[in-house]
Amino acid sequence: MPERRKLIAGNWKMNGLRAAGLELAKDLAGRLDAAGSVKFDMLVCPPATLVHSVAEAVAGTPLAVGGQDCHVAKSGAHTGDISAAMLADSGSTHVIVGHSERRQNHGEDDALVSAKASAAHQAGLVAIVCVGETLEQREAGKALDVVGTQVAGSIPAGATAANTVIAYEPVWAIGTGKTPTAADVAEVHAHIRKAIDGRIENPGQARILYGGSVKPSNAAELLSVDNVDGALVGGASLAADDFWGIAETC
Ligand code: PEP
Repeated sequence: MPERRKLIAGNWKMNGLRAAGLELAKDLAGRLDAAGSVKFDMLVCPPATLVHSVAEAVAGTPLAVGGQDCHVAKSGAHTGDISAAMLADSGSTHVIVGHSERRQNHGEDDALVSAKASAAHQAGLVAIVCVGETLEQREAGKALDVVGTQVAGSIPAGATAANTVIAYEPVWAIGTGKTPTAADVAEVHAHIRKAIDGRIENPGQARILYGGSVKPSNAAELLSVDNVDGALVGGASLAADDFWGIAETC
């Protein structure tokens, strides 16, 4: 079976005005160009306001650009929302769906996440489907059950290893500086690998990312865990040196 190439994805969240966002993206694209052959794919997901200008600025380089969320509909009366087709039209190749901040702050459930992933596929985008347990759920010994249920409910029909990436992001590790042990990450990722069997075509080739307080100092350990095929990075993706430092550990 061919090796899964690692994906290092940056989620800028609601950060980045035009000048700083463009500078960061161009810096990363320049490093990728200068490096020539690297062992990873790199993606940045700026806020929606910057997707088009960032995509234009890095066009022709290996740096991919994605959105952070999309609506299930192609168009219509949905004030403030953006569709997967709009993201694609703006130069995105990927979109994050089901991030825990969307699940918590906007009440998004597995069925909605699945519908968003399906909308992403229809627009030709790769859906990065996020799952992860809360601290309370982990302490109650329910992490595997919770993640298994989220995977089962959040992956739509038609998902393939090419159009779907799973990101395991324990909610309690996001933005907190805390990370699970390598053994805990291995256990959950192995569980996800099994759970996608029958739900994603070619499951052995599907990439499963780890996310939650990844930084240059812990990336080598986390990225060397079995079934960890890359990282979804929040805070540390906002500084080129940190984000590049994470990628270089691949
Ligand atoms: C995230 O928001 O997807 C994330 C992983 O954030 P952080 O790296 O800051 O924990």
